[in-house]
Amino acid sequence: MKSVLSAPLNRAISWIFVPAFAAGVGCSKSDRSNEQPIVLPVRVFEAPATYEIFDANCQKQTDKIDLTSGTLPAWQSDQVQMISVDLSNTVTSISLRNSIVKDTVFGVEYERRCDDAKEDGQECLDELGRDDYAAVKGKGWYLRICENGYEYPRKSVETVALTSAHYLDLAHKTYLQLKEPSAAVPPQLLLNVLPLFTDIFDNYYENGEKKLRKKYVVNNLAYYGGKNMIIVFPASKQTDEAFPGFFWESQFVLGHEYGHHVERQRTGLLKAKLGIDWNPITHTWEDLSLAKFTDTGTSEFTQVLGAISEGFADLLAFYAEGGTSLSLTGIPTLGKNRDIRTPTFENNTQKTLTQDRLNLLTGRKTAGKRDPDRHFENIHSGGAVFAYAADRIFKSVSLARIDIVEGSKEDMAFRYKLLLLWIDETGEGLSLVKSDPAESHLEKISGAFAKVVDDSVGGFTLRPDTTEKQLQSEVCNVLTEVLPALAKPAFALADGGC
Ligand SMILES: [Zn+2]
Repeated sequence: MKSVLSAPLNRAISWIFVPAFAAGVGCSKSDRSNEQPIVLPVRVFEAPATYEIFDANCQKQTDKIDLTSGTLPAWQSDQVQMISVDLSNTVTSISLRNSIVKDTVFGVEYERRCDDAKEDGQECLDELGRDDYAAVKGKGWYLRICENGYEYPRKSVETVALTSAHYLDLAHKTYLQLKEPSAAVPPQLLLNVLPLFTDIFDNYYENGEKKLRKKYVVNNLAYYGGKNMIIVFPASKQTDEAFPGFFWESQFVLGHEYGHHVERQRTGLLKAKLGIDWNPITHTWEDLSLAKFTDTGTSEFTQVLGAISEGFADLLAFYAEGGTSLSLTGIPTLGKNRDIRTPTFENNTQKTLTQDRLNLLTGRKTAGKRDPDRHFENIHSGGAVFAYAADRIFKSVSLARIDIVEGSKEDMAFRYKLLLLWIDETGEGLSLVKSDPAESHLEKISGAFAKVVDDSVGGFTLRPDTTEKQLQSEVCNVLTEVLPALAKPAFALADGGC
């Protein structure tokens, strides 16, 4: 098997999620408590489940192989089914490749040193308060797939790689089809499956006894923007045995990671100009000018930006799948919270951004242990609220068109295009207000909605029973209802009403 060259993991990473109750901190002591999590932990003491290479012989060959079809696992509502898929334009040369996957590697080993003698939340940081890489200990191998039209065992390295590559390919093809002709094609990605990612804790005490302990990164995916790489982490042993399916079996999950890639393509330059980058360990946007002087480098700006990014990624994945959530809702602990159309979270609270929740998101306030809104300290919950509001607004605009039928392919394609406009507008609006309070960022986000509505309405014929004023009033109503922390929603009248 060919060995892979790989440098240390740098910053600019987006997880599919982080443990909601340990938001923003990679390895704090509170992370280890047994509070009921609403999502699975990302770092656990339990070693990951290991999957074998099914076709070892194929790895030794060098010939180029064209694939046309295969049978792969797919989340279908509450269960995973094996389905036949079109794999045209998928090839094996040095490794598995398709329209968006440049190469596929597996078995890379990463290691991070942490010291439990350091203060809470600082265990894995260096003297500068930064932890932006994990060293490569084992370089892994390129992965080759030799059998066409084949059903590899579900729990094999081949299936994890083929499934991940296939869903990324679907997301990429949707973007190529719906983006503006002038928009750049995003660069290809390195697909890195089933790495062993270990944190080694020195000075770890258990029952008064000093131990060297290991933690593993499991049950997650990550987008490394700076490296154009997507990592598919292994399942923990417990998840592997108990769960009906895995993240890489979800079109939504891979579409979400690809969504981060699209956002980086479209707004990355603006963020770079502002000195904003994604931190791999704290899972937040970081202001590099702050990072040198504070523990985390996060600000109200970076937290709002993070929530918006998660919302963008969820929406891009949702529309690319035809607006069905078929591959999302069944995923334990994730699906019910992130389903775009559902007005509530899994704990039955409404998807709204109240002032209180905004205070949690921005870190002005810390949630108590039993606070049902505790998950708002994590950017993914704010993202779910933004995505819910955005879809309602895009739906209103799309259905105001005389030529669009609700739920049709054209409906989802048009909402996707509105979303791309909103991503651009939001990126530009937010770049002006870095040091302002979060309320001001919300106004820019609301203003971006108004711009999208105003710019798009002229481009199509409205239904006879719909006026532009009505549409504006609908948008204002959605913003009032879903984002109550927003003082003055777009299109609000002088008296504040819609
Ligand atoms: Zn994400």
